[in-house]
Amino acid sequence: MVLEEKKDPMGQAIRDYFEQGRAGTLRVCSSLFDDDEMPVPMLFRTESDMNALERTALRHCRGRVLDVGAGAGCHALVLQDRGLPVTAIDVSPLSVDTMRRRGVNDARACDFFDDDCGGPFDTVLLLMNGMGVCGRLDRLPLFFHRIDRVLADGGQVLADSSDLRYVFEDEDGNFTPEPDGRYYGEVDFRMVYGKVKGPRFDWLYIDFATLARSAARAGFRAELLCEGNHYDYLARITRA
Ligand code: SAH
Repeated sequence: MVLEEKKDPMGQAIRDYFEQGRAGTLRVCSSLFDDDEMPVPMLFRTESDMNALERTALRHCRGRVLDVGAGAGCHALVLQDRGLPVTAIDVSPLSVDTMRRRGVNDARACDFFDDDCGGPFDTVLLLMNGMGVCGRLDRLPLFFHRIDRVLADGGQVLADSSDLRYVFEDEDGNFTPEPDGRYYGEVDFRMVYGKVKGPRFDWLYIDFATLARSAARAGFRAELLCEGNHYDYLARITRA
C-alpha cells in the first residue's frame, strides 16, 4: 500500500534533504533494538560512499533493472549513469517525487506486493537489507510469486540481508532467541520525523540458509555472492 504524505517520515526527510541540503532527525524505533537514528545523508550516498556489498550488487546488474524500495534513488542513479534502463519503485510518493527531481527517468509510487510494477526485468534489485520488504517469513511464498511475475527469462534477483543471530547470542556463542516461536529475524519498526509518525511495519532480516531453503521451495535457487563485515550478505536468486 502506498503511504500517505502525512504518515511518511522517511519520504519527508528525503524531500527536506533534497530541497534544503539538510534534514531533521529521522528516528527509528523497533521492538528489538534501542531507538536509533537513520542518517538522512546516507540515503543520498554516491557510489564512492557505498560498501563492498552494494558495489558488488551494482556490478552484477544487467539488462532492464527494477529497483525495489529505491528510497532517494542512489542505486538507480548509478545504474542509469551506466546506461542501464531502470524502473525505481517505492511505497513513498514523496521519495518517488524526489527521485524524479534527482533525474531518475522512471520512478513509480507502487508497492511491490500489490501493484503492477511493469517489466519483465532482467535484474530485480533490493538493497539496504532489501529482503526486509518481505516483512515476515510467511510472506516469502508471496515474494517469490511476485518475483516470478516480473522476472524475465534468465533474470536474476540481487538482494541483501543480515543474519540477526548475533543479537541473540551470548559471549559463549549460545543462541537463545525469544521463546515466542517466531523467526528471530522478524522485527517491527516505526519511523518518526519531527511530528510525522509513520505506521508500524514489519521488516525481515533473513539468514542465508533460510533464504536458500525458501527459494528452493518456490522453484528458485539462491547463491551467496558476497559477505559483508557484520553478518550481512548479498544473494543472487535465479529460477532453478
Ligand atoms: N534502497 C534504498 C532505500 C532503502 S529504505 C537505499 O539503499 O538507500 C527501504 C525503502 O523501501 C523505503 O524507501 C520504503 O519506503 C521502501 N519500501 C518498503 N516496502 C516496500 C514495498 N512493499 N514496495 C516498494 N517499496 C517499499
